[in-house]
Amino acid sequence: MIKKNKIVLATSNIGKVAEIQNFYRDLNLEVVPYSDLIDSFEIDETGSTFKENSIIKAKAVYEALVKNNIFEIVLSDDSGISVEALNWEPNIYSARFAGIGATSSQNLDKLISELNKLNIKESRAFYTACISIVSPKGEIFTTHGWMHGKVINQKIGNGGFGYDPCFVPNGEIDTLGVLPENIKEEYSHRTKALKLARILIHKLEADL
Ligand code: IMP
Repeated sequence: MIKKNKIVLATSNIGKVAEIQNFYRDLNLEVVPYSDLIDSFEIDETGSTFKENSIIKAKAVYEALVKNNIFEIVLSDDSGISVEALNWEPNIYSARFAGIGATSSQNLDKLISELNKLNIKESRAFYTACISIVSPKGEIFTTHGWMHGKVINQKIGNGGFGYDPCFVPNGEIDTLGVLPENIKEEYSHRTKALKLARILIHKLEADL
């Protein structure tokens, strides 16, 4: 069997892994989380923007793979939600909104409780995704995507992941917890950034 080249994902977030694998399902590359190849490790997200943090993650995984003599395309996603009523927070702190090590559901509960504290039923909000790619030679590229809509002070549905049960995209009346996967794919911040990254991946693939 001919071994396929890989896109190694610098994340273990199963929601992100599933969306990225699904979006690139047509590529002739295997899309795998880095923890399939090497032991997973903590990466300190010390940047002050999605772009800085996404580069930090992609470089950390690229360097760890190189130490193990693995040279593949590495792809990271740094993403989060920004809510108008919360001064556009939690932004880059979305994964640690309820504290370091908080679960997705604790973060979602915290967002809803912050809206309730302000006596607000809904607020404009948007998701940002920054995708970074490190080529097998170590070159770095980044792309961005956004999804606009609103958050509500209720969790509706179990679809998607993270903050999706309280997020309603513009043009819809249901949350991403209820809307089918293909609808999220159409609007998604991550899809938009991955679409741009696909152009880079095709170029890199040609050089493999
Ligand atoms: P990161 O893994 O450091 O990039 O953190 C991303 C945070 O934003 C996590 O808390 C996610 O739950 C949240 N997030 C990012 N993208 C999405 C999404 O598409 N839906 C729901 N939550 C998301």
